[in-house]
Amino acid sequence: GGAEYLFGIEESLKELAQLADTAGLMVVGSTHQKLNSPNPRTYIGSGKVAEIKSAIHALGVETVIFDDELSAGQLRNLEKAFGGDVRVCDRTALILDIFNQRAATHEAALQVALAQMEYQLPRLTKMWSHLERQAGGQVKGMGEKQIEVDKRILRTQIGVLKKELESVRKHRKQYRNRRVSVPVPVVSLVGYTNAGKSTLLNRLTGATVLAEDRLFATLDPTTRRVQMKNGGEFLLTDTVGFIQKLPTTLVAAFRATLEEISESSLLVHVVDISHPLAEQQIEAVDKVLSELDVSSIPKLMIWNKVDKVCDPQKVKLEAQKREDVVCISALSGNGLDEFCSAVQEKLKDSMVWVEALVP
Ligand code: GDP
Repeated sequence: GGAEYLFGIEESLKELAQLADTAGLMVVGSTHQKLNSPNPRTYIGSGKVAEIKSAIHALGVETVIFDDELSAGQLRNLEKAFGGDVRVCDRTALILDIFNQRAATHEAALQVALAQMEYQLPRLTKMWSHLERQAGGQVKGMGEKQIEVDKRILRTQIGVLKKELESVRKHRKQYRNRRVSVPVPVVSLVGYTNAGKSTLLNRLTGATVLAEDRLFATLDPTTRRVQMKNGGEFLLTDTVGFIQKLPTTLVAAFRATLEEISESSLLVHVVDISHPLAEQQIEAVDKVLSELDVSSIPKLMIWNKVDKVCDPQKVKLEAQKREDVVCISALSGNGLDEFCSAVQEKLKDSMVWVEALVP
């Protein structure tokens, strides 16, 4: 990995294991190696390849997942080296798999399909070079021709998908414009995956949105109306969970969904304060947010899961010292009234701001 990563190797691998679990795989082990630069042929060194190969046989491993993106050549060489039916994939392919399993709306499914095809395009070599080898060189060049044909087909499919996506988005935008004309403020929940966004949404609205202790439980934005005790109301939207090393193809794929954030009246950043890497997760989310046009939107930070920290009192004191931080437990409901008041206070500010713009 490069130096720009916020997470250490062990932590990143732990998260990768959690992603694998989310995808329905059982993790039997992990390993890492420090190299000055990745091996261009196999990413890891030959000794490590041999080590993993023997572990594969000893443990009956079916899939080997790498935490960084691999090139087409590296994927092919590693699969050849490990032999048998061992599947080699990288973090990006794994995340794409999860997104694919979990896309619930037509738009999300289209976005994932598009991202998967764009990921495949430069890697379309494997199958045909296998065939060429089997044919014993008699049809040399056939594989290459076939790859070109396949790439052309894939590019055509990508074009079709893009058009379809465009029309789905246009439709959604029309719907959204109608929503904007209703004077109900929109509050967007953002945060690292597993921070507790769905749980908070459920708590506040009585809706049953899938809340699981897994990464990426939420893929499609869900919007619910929240009625407050004093009669006020707002729309609460749950967005896709962020994660470190989110593949660029996916950031692009979900950009349109994320851009909806820029139309909200308030951003609520939900943090799992009980997580040992809470600081790094905050940074990872801020990084994605900085790439969107949201600097003018008021923000509120929620330190969630206070019930899980060993010294809740200390955490609460720390939160009080900061501006715009509210401690809650979405699970027990602790602090929700305070949260609602804080939202209302913030919305008051943003309404003033809107009125100032529209004389
Ligand atoms: P999301 O990915 O941000 O939507 O996170 P979820 O709402 O799916 O929550 C992830 C996990 O954290 C679930 O197992 C929740 O039950 C758990 N969780 C959420 N809020 C709290 C909380 O306040 N306290 C505790 N202990 N667990 C929580």
